Amino acid sequence: MIGGLGARLRNAMRSFVSKGKVDEAALSELVRELQRVLIASDVNVRLVAELSRQIKERALNEKPLPGLTLREHVLRVIYDELVRLVGEGKELGQLSACFVLLGLFGSGKTTTAAKLGYWLKKRGVTPTLVSLDRDRPAAFEQLRQLGESLGLKVSREISPRPCIIDTAGRDALSEDMLREARELVKKVQPEEVFLVLPAEMGHEAGKQAEALKELITGVIITRMDGSAKGGGALSACAAAGVPIVFIGTGERIDELELFDPKRYVSRLLGWGDIQGLLEKAEEIKGEVGELSMADLENLNMLTFYRQMEALTKLGPFEKILQMVGLTDLDRGTVEEMKAKLKKYRVIINSMTRKEQLDPGILNSSRIKRIARGSGTSERDVKALLKEFNMMKKMVRKLKKGRLKGLNPKMLRGLKL
Ligand code: GDP
Ligand code: MG
Repeated sequence: MIGGLGARLRNAMRSFVSKGKVDEAALSELVRELQRVLIASDVNVRLVAELSRQIKERALNEKPLPGLTLREHVLRVIYDELVRLVGEGKELGQLSACFVLLGLFGSGKTTTAAKLGYWLKKRGVTPTLVSLDRDRPAAFEQLRQLGESLGLKVSREISPRPCIIDTAGRDALSEDMLREARELVKKVQPEEVFLVLPAEMGHEAGKQAEALKELITGVIITRMDGSAKGGGALSACAAAGVPIVFIGTGERIDELELFDPKRYVSRLLGWGDIQGLLEKAEEIKGEVGELSMADLENLNMLTFYRQMEALTKLGPFEKILQMVGLTDLDRGTVEEMKAKLKKYRVIINSMTRKEQLDPGILNSSRIKRIARGSGTSERDVKALLKEFNMMKKMVRKLKKGRLKGLNPKMLRGLKL
C-alpha cells in the first residue's frame, strides 16, 4: 500500500489543492480518484462506498476545526476516514509473554516469528523461538538458522515464557487446522495469538480473520512492501473487527513494525506528523487568522483589514501542506502581503470612523487628505480602495457559490 498507492493519493490531493475553488465538484472529483486508488488496492467496494459517503457528508456538513480553512478541512476529513478505514491498531500488553503465530503455508509465519523475536529483543525481552512444524524438518531448520543469527534459543518443545510459537501451516483454512489451533491455545494459554496474513490476499484476508476471530487476539499482515493489495487486507481485517498488530514491510529481520493507523496514513500521504499538529489546532486557534463570513458580508475598511490579516496567517495544516509542497501559497507571497498590510493599516488609521465604515464616500479630496495624514501617496490609498472593491466583488460571487465556506485561495488571488 505504501509505494504506488501513496503516490496516487498524493497526486489526487495535490490536484484538489491546486483547484481554484473548493466546491462540491472539486470534492466529488477528489473522492472519485480516491475510490479508484482504493479499489486498485483491493479495498472492498462496499467499504469504499461507505468511506466516500462519510467523506462527502463530513466535508460538507461538519464545522471545520478552529484554524482550518475549508480546503484543509476536506483534507483532514479524508485523513480521518482513511485512518478509520485501516482500523485501530492495538497496544501490546506485556512483552514477556507467549505469542502464537497461526496462518497458511507461505504466509510468512516463520520469518515473522524471527522478526518478532528480534523486535522483542530490542525491547529487552529474550524469547525462545518454538517450532511446532513437526512434519517438515526444513521448517525447523529455517527457524533455527534465523534464531541463531539473532542469538535466540530455538526449540521444538513449548517452553516457559517468553516464547514465540511458530505453528505448522496448511494449504487452506480447515477444520483440522482450527482444532489444532484451539487445542494449542487451551494448552499453553498464550497472551497473544496472531494470525499471519500476506498482503496479497487483499480483502479476502478479512474472511480468514473473521473465521478465527474467537481464537485470535490480532493479525499480522506480511509483505506490505511487495503487494499493491495491502490496503484491501488492512481494511478488511479492520472491518472484521480484528486489530492489526504488526505489519511486515520487507524481507529483512528488522522489517516488522507495530501498526499505528495514524502514523501509517500520515506516511502514506507524505504528511509527517499531521496528527500531532491537528491535536494542537485548538491551542493554535488564537494565533491563526480565521476568515469570517460575518466580516465579509459586512465589508468595510475595518473588517476588510481583519480579513486581509487572517489571510497572511498560516494555520497548522497549511504549514504542513507547504512543507510537503501541497500548497501553491509560497512564503514570498505571504511576506509581500504582510508588508502591504502594514501600509494599509496606517492608511486606514488616517480615515475617520465614518470613512472606515463606509468607504464609498471617499472622494478625491478625502483621498488627498488621507494620503497626507498617513504619510503615503494618493496612489497607495487608491490601491487600497481597489483591493477593497475587488474583495467586495469576490464576496458577492462567493455568496452565490453552493458551498457555505470560503475559499482563501480566491481571496488570495487578489494579489495584494
Ligand atoms: P511460512 O510458510 O508461513 O512460515 O512463511 P515464511 O516465513 O517461510 O515466508 C514465506 C516467504 O515470505 C519468504 O520468502 C519470506 O522471505 C517472505 N516474507 C515474509 N514476510 C515478508 C515481508 O514482510 N516482506 C517481504 N518482501 N517478504 C516477506
Ligand atoms: Mg514456516
